[in-house]
Amino acid sequence: MTIVDLRSDTITHPTPAMRRAMAEAEVGDDVFGEDPTVRRLEEMAAERLGKEAGLFVASGTMGNLVSLLAQCGRGDEVIVGDQAHTYMYEQGGMAALGGIHPRVLKNRPDGTLDLDEIVAAIRDPNNPHFPRTRLITVENTHNRCGGTALTVAYMQALGALAREHGLLLHVDGARIFNAAVALGVTERALVADADSVTFCLSKGLAAPVGSVVCGSRAFIAEARRARKVVGGGMRQAGVIAAAGIVALEQMVERLADDHANARALAAGLAELKGIQVEAVPVRTNIVYFNIVRPDMNATQLTARLAEQGVRMLPVGPRRIRAVTNYHVTAEQITRALAVLRAILA
Ligand SMILES: *Cc1c(COP(=O)(O)O)cnc(C)c1O
Repeated sequence: MTIVDLRSDTITHPTPAMRRAMAEAEVGDDVFGEDPTVRRLEEMAAERLGKEAGLFVASGTMGNLVSLLAQCGRGDEVIVGDQAHTYMYEQGGMAALGGIHPRVLKNRPDGTLDLDEIVAAIRDPNNPHFPRTRLITVENTHNRCGGTALTVAYMQALGALAREHGLLLHVDGARIFNAAVALGVTERALVADADSVTFCLSKGLAAPVGSVVCGSRAFIAEARRARKVVGGGMRQAGVIAAAGIVALEQMVERLADDHANARALAAGLAELKGIQVEAVPVRTNIVYFNIVRPDMNATQLTARLAEQGVRMLPVGPRRIRAVTNYHVTAEQITRALAVLRAILA
């Protein structure tokens, strides 16, 4: 029985081209700035995102953390969505390690933050009672808001707001390439207004390890220092960066296949009794749905699915997440739906 693994796009294994590139990678000590493969990946990433410089980091969490550490001091405040990965899933690293105070606004269902609410949340810098508002962070695509994509128009409006109020803008773009492909725009256009961006190589792009942070040369120099203090200075990291180069060269356009598979999955789920699919403005590779029958909850349903080789992630009492990825074919989506139909019958 082949397993249909829809738990996450992080379960992807490196492609044969990545394995070859890793085996043959030219390497050096990257803490001395001497790993040519890491430098090439950083330059490629910066070029693609329209930024001056890039920094290879171990994970998306590290990328977000060093971006905030580089731009905010103790007691500074960051405006962040209540559904954001940086707020929900990173152990409160900005506060725990940076002394940075999160100012949490409610994410709207489309993953955005309301611009008027942001303005209302900005502190008076002359009042000594308040922390100083320093930075706004948004997520694109937005995982917990159904994998939906924030548009170029929204990012431009947000950028204008940030500039007007003298604030920095960070984009947690773990899946920025999914957003670009789904919207039919360049990733560069999506982050043009951002001072800093993190994206993951190890999700839909199928590299085994790593993320890249991009921004101005001065920002990256600070982020590089921050990476060292959190233990992220890696030595012959070209071995893993090589897979990241292949990811950028070969794995971006095919994300459209993952999106088509997710649309097919959502359409099939919508026809099943007892299932409610969560709608999104822009479908990427993530589908959330709810099991609404009284005799079965999310844990029970995903356990039944797993017995038949279909893996999905329960993320609430009734809420389940399915994420299409490089290893999931259109036929497997059909099979997953057939298994689900049989369980619910
Ligand atoms: C996965 C993810 C991260 C963190 O990435 P890791 O590499 O798992 O640390 C950050 N933000 C978002 C939106 C993510 O989905």
